[in-house]
Amino acid sequence: MKPLDELTEELYRCIRCGSCTAVCPVFSVEKREMSVARGRLRLVREYLAGNLELTGKMRGYLDLCLGCRACVVSCPPQVPTDKIIRAARAHFAINKGQPLVRHILLQNVLVKPKRFTMVLDSLKLARNTGVTRLLPKNLKTKENILPQLPKRTFRELLNGLQLKQSDKKVGFFLSCMDNNVYPQVIIAAINILEKLGYEVVIPTKVVCCGAAHDNYGDLENARKLAWQNIEAFSDTGVDVILTDCASCGSTMQSYGELFRGKSEEAKAFSFVSKVMDINQFLSDKLPSVSEMTQTTVTYHDPCHLVRYQNVRTAPRRVLASAGVIFKEMAEADRCCGGGGTFNIFHYDISMQILDRKIENVKQTGASILATSCPACRIQLEHGIKRHGLTIEVLHPIELLEKSFVKREGNPY
Ligand code: SF4
Ligand code: SF4
Repeated sequence: MKPLDELTEELYRCIRCGSCTAVCPVFSVEKREMSVARGRLRLVREYLAGNLELTGKMRGYLDLCLGCRACVVSCPPQVPTDKIIRAARAHFAINKGQPLVRHILLQNVLVKPKRFTMVLDSLKLARNTGVTRLLPKNLKTKENILPQLPKRTFRELLNGLQLKQSDKKVGFFLSCMDNNVYPQVIIAAINILEKLGYEVVIPTKVVCCGAAHDNYGDLENARKLAWQNIEAFSDTGVDVILTDCASCGSTMQSYGELFRGKSEEAKAFSFVSKVMDINQFLSDKLPSVSEMTQTTVTYHDPCHLVRYQNVRTAPRRVLASAGVIFKEMAEADRCCGGGGTFNIFHYDISMQILDRKIENVKQTGASILATSCPACRIQLEHGIKRHGLTIEVLHPIELLEKSFVKREGNPY
């Protein structure tokens, strides 16, 4: 990852054409110059020219970006605004540190899988005992974003699972979100992969992929986490490392850049070459559909899959193989407003972006909304609840697993 002062050529590529104003979800709500790529780039330029200081206000403008890359793909001179903003945040963090809550999250909670699980266990306890009802309204609103949590994490379930053995092995990366919030997605992935004859290798020494650290400029911890993940897979002998989480996938694919110019670079790029989204891996290996269901499904493209990894058709192919009736929604690849923790720190803006997404979902008449990122899923489920709808949100591979069971009886 290039430091901010090495991105001046990219910064000065902005011709101020304003194309980004038409696609930026934050600008569509805020309508302020500092809420769009053009304004943010100007801000960074003025800072580098010595005309601005690193102030809290400036940090606020930099933080008000979802990192959705909609501006990048529609920018005529291809200004990498997402990279520039991440580099600016890293520069800010080095010079001014992180705000307290973010500091605790990045340095204390997310660096150890057990700590993240402990935080969620505490939330479960608080919910079960009714303590969360006593929260002030603004905190309660944010607490509501998280769906009901499962009784057991995937790591807890793993001991009781009998994973099949095979000569064909694939690695599988345990995402923090799916481990803690949607363990059923990992189970579905294992079931499908085993059904296709693969042994699923799941190293339990993996840690958080480092998405939040990378996003908020904590590069020291981002590298530490990345290296632990690279090492966790180093003696597994797998040629492919699958993930069911779009954010983890795009973060792991950036490990090479994270170590560029360092002694770990070659090993990091070798790791990157193995990382693959599970939809992409499965899309050319699935049996043809002999029977259709009457279920109408639509699909939300996670920014981290469609614009960071260029994966657009594979999830739709997986859904086609699941035998569902597919209805494309308008603006399927427009950000849902989740943005990792953006929905917590900028709740009102996030909800306005989400409302537009849910309106598009509603127009399809679908009873199931599929998506390939647990962070999007949390946000979309919240939107569905807010709008009083009964649409179910699932990963495409959960639908695929259901169709396997339907076609062949429960093989598991
Ligand atoms: S689209 Fe690109 S070149 Fe045009 S104003 Fe936005 S960032 Fe600048
Ligand atoms: S990355 Fe997304 S939210 Fe950020 S400036 Fe670009 S379009 Fe707007």
